[in-house]
Amino acid sequence: MQGTNNPQNILKKHFGFDQFRPLQEDIITGVLNQKDTLVLMPTGGGKSICFQLPALLLPHITLVISPLIALMKDQVEALKANGIAADFLNSSMDEGEQNNLIDKLKRGEIKLLYLSPEKLLTLASYLEANIKISLIAIDEAHCISQWGHDFRPEYTKLAKLRDLWPNIPVIALTATADKITRKDIVKQLNLQNPNIFVASFDRPNLSLSVKFAVKKKQKLQEISDFIDTRKNESGIIYCLSRKSTEEMASELSEFGISAECYHAGLSSEQRNKVQDNFINDRTKVICATIAFGMGIDKSNVRFVIHNSLPKNMEGYYQEIGRAGRDGLPSDTILYYSLGDIMLLRSFIEDSGQKELNFEKLNRMQQYAETPICRRKILLAYFGETLEMPCNNCDVCKQPRSTFDGTLLAQKALSALVRTEEKVGNNLLIDILRGSHRKEIIENNYDKIKTYGAGKDLPYSDWQKYLLQMLNLGLVEIAYDDNHTLKVSDFGKEVLFGKKSIDLVKTDELQKFEPKKKRNLLEDDVKDLDKELFDYLRSVRRQFSEKENVPAYVIFSDATLQELSEKKPIQISDLLHINGMGEFKIKKYGNTFVKEIKQWLRNNDVKAPKGNTYKETFELLKEGYSIEEIAEARKIHTTTIYSHIAQLYSKNEIDSLDPYINSVEIELVRKAASELGDTKQLTPIFNHLNQEIPFHIIRLCLAYIEKELG
Ligand code: ADP
Ligand code: ZN
Repeated sequence: MQGTNNPQNILKKHFGFDQFRPLQEDIITGVLNQKDTLVLMPTGGGKSICFQLPALLLPHITLVISPLIALMKDQVEALKANGIAADFLNSSMDEGEQNNLIDKLKRGEIKLLYLSPEKLLTLASYLEANIKISLIAIDEAHCISQWGHDFRPEYTKLAKLRDLWPNIPVIALTATADKITRKDIVKQLNLQNPNIFVASFDRPNLSLSVKFAVKKKQKLQEISDFIDTRKNESGIIYCLSRKSTEEMASELSEFGISAECYHAGLSSEQRNKVQDNFINDRTKVICATIAFGMGIDKSNVRFVIHNSLPKNMEGYYQEIGRAGRDGLPSDTILYYSLGDIMLLRSFIEDSGQKELNFEKLNRMQQYAETPICRRKILLAYFGETLEMPCNNCDVCKQPRSTFDGTLLAQKALSALVRTEEKVGNNLLIDILRGSHRKEIIENNYDKIKTYGAGKDLPYSDWQKYLLQMLNLGLVEIAYDDNHTLKVSDFGKEVLFGKKSIDLVKTDELQKFEPKKKRNLLEDDVKDLDKELFDYLRSVRRQFSEKENVPAYVIFSDATLQELSEKKPIQISDLLHINGMGEFKIKKYGNTFVKEIKQWLRNNDVKAPKGNTYKETFELLKEGYSIEEIAEARKIHTTTIYSHIAQLYSKNEIDSLDPYINSVEIELVRKAASELGDTKQLTPIFNHLNQEIPFHIIRLCLAYIEKELG
């Protein structure tokens, strides 16, 4: 492909993207100018391009340090799928393989080399002495900091890189945002006056919703219904314990859903298998403890469900962030209960850093309880402000209405005082609802004034109101006293009518997102696109099975989506589809175009008429060579030349200079006139002793004809 090698062209040619995402271009320009760089960008933000693209423009090799073999493998596969010379060195390679790779490096046949920090350090002096390096990229750079959430001691040794390669620029990348970690990375890697880029942590394509106190059975039903509406889509369900991952997976399986569990108790072999099944779309749903997701790059995770409350916002953000890396709409749902909070609180009681952890849990709880846009709260936590409500969270979609809850709270507070604050929340609710359970009768709680005063409300409503009271600070849980509830000073003020409070109606906390009424016509069209999408997914699957790579390495869901909307039926249309780089167009373009045409025919959808020589024209304009066009379109080069002749006759192209020279023109001119001004190719071909190929003769004739006017 011709054209200058600027970042924009490389982006299109090798990665198939038309535009840079925010910050990418500035980052890349800095790196190409030898600046040390620190990039903070959320998962899915597009960090990889920031070093992969410069790697293609720099003269020597780019080393990429990454902590997890699975991640390296994924990235290298994705690069190779784009026709980029990348490879990785890992400890599982034998000496022969390793030497092979090193030979390739020496011959300059590799642009990007991925390796673990350990591997880098053992090979560092050798590499320094034998191989020219242009750039060092350090992925997951927060692993170097004790402040980060994933400290890895082997990362700290990377500080030595600077001594070995004092003049090679370093780019460090992470999705961890906080300021201490940021500073620490700069210091430990000894980055020199670095460019620091902090991208927005907003992920607008992720819907956010939270549901409180949904009973186990109903929750299971809801989750399975939710998954059923997402045919062929995959997701992760995070659970608190190993046991609950196993339970969830087997219960979903009973609903006929393909689900597996994943936790630290499985052997590494088992874990790899589960992960592999997920990546290759053989398993749809993974029920996992937080250990899952670290090492995978799967871009088309369409939903993340939390089966219980995460212990802090950092964890929550990271886990939901594993959905929708390809930028397509994806859903996240958080289920939590009072029981989760009690459990997490008791864990914290037994942990170090109690205060900090309680504070973090409180913030998590506030998020779950918020009556205002959740995204605002989430981003505020990471120090960003969102001006407008997001319209993609459950609160925005359905604003909560509140009522004066003073009287309701007084009933509970009063009952609590009359038990001398000796009961926990379950017993308190039973008292309010007038239960006859043994403890109530034994303790004479049935004699107190507010016994049965809350009969009108179901148990689950009381649970929700009590949680709100807890959050408002009316009551506190005494962890050191059997988790009994105590009335706070503020609670007393409410009890004695000095202060009033508002509560959110319980039915508002649980409502499903309303199904939007949609335009029928538009719906039909969308459904059709969806069918084509599913069809193309099966085409993609055939390639992925044949090549033994995950489907999203072939094309992302976002690319398939665009294909099913735009329905390109000629190769040149593919140029405008995101994710269609030159290499992939050549490799898959023809099949996909054919399949789309076939599908349109089978479904009686009128395809726009293709124009074969116009298409050649489009591709020529993009800088493709004749051979490349022929290969991509699976037609003969001779045909392409005849298109060029037509384009020249129709004045679409100005010159045939690249294809024919004046000697050929004169020979053909002479032959044609000797044969009585013929325009037939074969007699001219024979007349010239079959020495001038047909396509050249054709082009010469086009030239001569135009000359004559
Ligand atoms: P990160 O490493 O920050 O989590 P990735 O580099 O894996 O993110 O990118 C996430 C997704 O976004 C990938 O599917 C990638 O192909 C896509 N992507 C990156 N840059 C662009 C861009 N400029 N235009 C369109 N898609 C992009
Ligand atoms: Zn919102």
